[in-house]
Amino acid sequence: MKRNTLFFALLLGITIAASAQTQTVEGKFSRPLGEVLREIQSRFDIKLKYDIDTLNKVLPFADFRIRPYSAEESLTNVLAYFDYKYVMDGEAYKLKSYEYPRRTPADGKKMLAYLNTLYADKAAWEARGEELRKEVRNLLGIDDILKHCVHSKPILSKIRKFDGYTVQNIALETLPGLYVCGSIYAPAKKGKHPVIICPNGHFSEGRYNKNLQLRSATLARMGAVCIDYDLFGYGESALQVGGAAHRTSAASIIQAINGLYLLDYALTRKDIDPTRVAANGASGGGAQTVLLSVLDSRFTAAAPVVSLASHFDGGCPCESGMPIQLACGGTNNAELVAMMAPKPLLIVSDGKDWTASVPELEFPYLQRIYDFYGAKEKVSNAHFANEGHDYGPSKRNAVYNFFAETFGLDRAKQDESKVTIESFEAKYSFGKNGELMPEGAIRSFNDVAAYFDKKLFAQAKSDAGLEKKATEWTASLQLEDARTASHVSTLIYNHLRQVRDWHNAHPYTTIPEGINPATGNKLSKLDREMIADSAMPKEVHEKLMSGLRKSLTEEQVEQILDKYTVGKVAFTLKGYYAIVPDLTAEEETVILGHLKEARERAIDYKNMNQISAIFEIYKTKCEQYLNSNGRNWRQLFKSYVDKRNAEKKAAAAAKK
Ligand code: ZN
Repeated sequence: MKRNTLFFALLLGITIAASAQTQTVEGKFSRPLGEVLREIQSRFDIKLKYDIDTLNKVLPFADFRIRPYSAEESLTNVLAYFDYKYVMDGEAYKLKSYEYPRRTPADGKKMLAYLNTLYADKAAWEARGEELRKEVRNLLGIDDILKHCVHSKPILSKIRKFDGYTVQNIALETLPGLYVCGSIYAPAKKGKHPVIICPNGHFSEGRYNKNLQLRSATLARMGAVCIDYDLFGYGESALQVGGAAHRTSAASIIQAINGLYLLDYALTRKDIDPTRVAANGASGGGAQTVLLSVLDSRFTAAAPVVSLASHFDGGCPCESGMPIQLACGGTNNAELVAMMAPKPLLIVSDGKDWTASVPELEFPYLQRIYDFYGAKEKVSNAHFANEGHDYGPSKRNAVYNFFAETFGLDRAKQDESKVTIESFEAKYSFGKNGELMPEGAIRSFNDVAAYFDKKLFAQAKSDAGLEKKATEWTASLQLEDARTASHVSTLIYNHLRQVRDWHNAHPYTTIPEGINPATGNKLSKLDREMIADSAMPKEVHEKLMSGLRKSLTEEQVEQILDKYTVGKVAFTLKGYYAIVPDLTAEEETVILGHLKEARERAIDYKNMNQISAIFEIYKTKCEQYLNSNGRNWRQLFKSYVDKRNAEKKAAAAAKK
C-alpha cells in the first residue's frame, strides 16, 4: 500500500454511486443513501445533521420513498430502511441511530392512553402492578445476583459534627469483595427519624457534587437521615472496578442492590423510623428512585427529580441496560412509579429536558391512578418551565417542602447556608487511592463480571483496557489540577473508544476489492482497512484535538499525540539524521512539519500497521522534498545502508 490511501475513500464513493444508479426494477431503483439525503436536503431546503454513517449504504427504491409534499415523511421512509431516525435539533434534522430507550412525547402520549385502557379501577390496576413487580425483578435479573451477595458488618467512619447534623461514611459489602460506599447524613438531635435513600445521577462529581451535599445535609438538619452512595464505577467504586464498568448492564443491577442493601442497613439502626422511608434522586438518580420503589414495598414516599417521563427510560446502561421496560408487554417509568399509589409521590420536572411533558402527560396519568385510591392529592408535580436539567435551588426547595409535609420535618431548619461542603476525600471510606480497602476487596471489573454471563462483558473489558491507556497517558503529563487531568483522560478515552468502535463496525470487507490507482496493484487488506477507517466522521478527531488544546499547552498536546504514535516522530527524525548527516535546520523544519502532520492523522487509526502506513505517506513527502532541495534520496539511502553493512561486518570480524 503506502501511497495515496486517503484518496481512495473518495474514489470509491464515486464508483459505488455510479454502480448503484441503475434506475430499473432489476436494480431495485437503488441509490446511495448519502446522495438521497443530499437530495432531500436541497429539495425541501432543510438542514441535516449527521450522527450516522452513510458510507457504503445503498437504498433500494430510493426515489419512491420521497414524498414530494413532506420532508418529514420522506426522511422517515428513507431512514427506516437502515434503522435510522431523525430528531429535531433546533431548526436542523439530526439523523441518528435508533435508540431503544428514547422515544417522543407523542409516543409517550399514545403509550399512556393505551396503558389507561388496561385498568379502569383499583382492582385491575393492582393486578397489573403485582405482575409488573414480578416481571421487572425477573427482567432485571436481580434475584440471581442477590444469591451471590454477602451480609457482612458495615464499615463506618468516625462521625463528623456540623451545624445541626452529622456525617459518617459507610462501606457495605454486597457481592464478595465489592463495596458500595456512601455517606450518612443524620440530624444532630436524638430520636426516631425518617430515612431517605439517595441514589445519584451522572452529574459531574457524582455524589460529592455541591447540590447533592446541600440536599442531603439540609434534609438532615430538618430531621431526616439521608444516605447517598456512589454510582457503580464512580467515586470509590471506580477504584474497585474502573469507570468503564459503569456503562454495562451490570451497573443497573448492582446499583439497585446497593440501594436495597443501604435500606436494609438503615432499618437496623435504632434512630430510624421504619414507617417513614423514601427515595430521592435526580436525573439517573431519579431513574433509580423509580426502580427502587418498584423493587421494595418498604418505601413509603418517593421523589424522582428531572428524570421521569413516559417516553424516555434513561440513556445509560445503568438505567436501561436491562430490559425492564418490556415487562408485561411493555411499560415505562410513569407506569412503574405509579405503583407508589397511594403513597406520597413528588415528580420534579423542568421545561428544557425530556421531563417537559410531565404536566401534560405523566402527571395527569399518575393522578388518575391515585384517584383509584381517592388519593389524588398524594401525588404532586413541581414543574419549572424555565429551568433545565439540574438539581438546583428551586428543585431542592420543592423536595424540602415535600419531605417537610410528608415526614413532618422541621421547616425552621430549612437553611442551606448552615451546611458545610466537604471535600471529596472527607467522604472516602478507603482513602484517596483505596489504600484502606479491606483484604479480599475486588480490584477489577472482571471479578464482578464473573457473577454474570461472562460473554456479556467482552466490550466492557476492552473499554477497561482503553481507559487504562487514557489514564496512563494523562498521568505521564503530571498535571497538577485533578479536574483537568480527569477531563483530558475522558477526552482521550472517548476518542480511543470511537476509533475502536468505528474500526470494528467497518471491517475491510465493507470496502470492495479494487486497484490502487497510484500503483495499479490490487488493494491489500490493509489498504481496504484504511479506506474504511478514513471515513470516520471528522468530528471525532476535532473533538479530541480542540479539547486537548483548550486544556493543555501545545507541548503537552504533542506528548499525548506521541503516546498514540509510540514516539514515531522523534524516531523517524532520528532516521533522517542518520541518513542525511548534514541535514540543515531548514530541512529539519520541513521534515518535522510533515512528520507532525502524519502523527496527527495517525491517531485516528486503530492499530500499529495502520499508523505506520500513515507515516509512510508522509515519509514519501519528506523524501520528495529532499530531492527537490538538491539531494538525491536514493543515493543517500544507499550510502547509509552500505555504511551500516560495512559496520556490521567489521563488528562481526572483531568478535572473531
Ligand atoms: Zn449510568
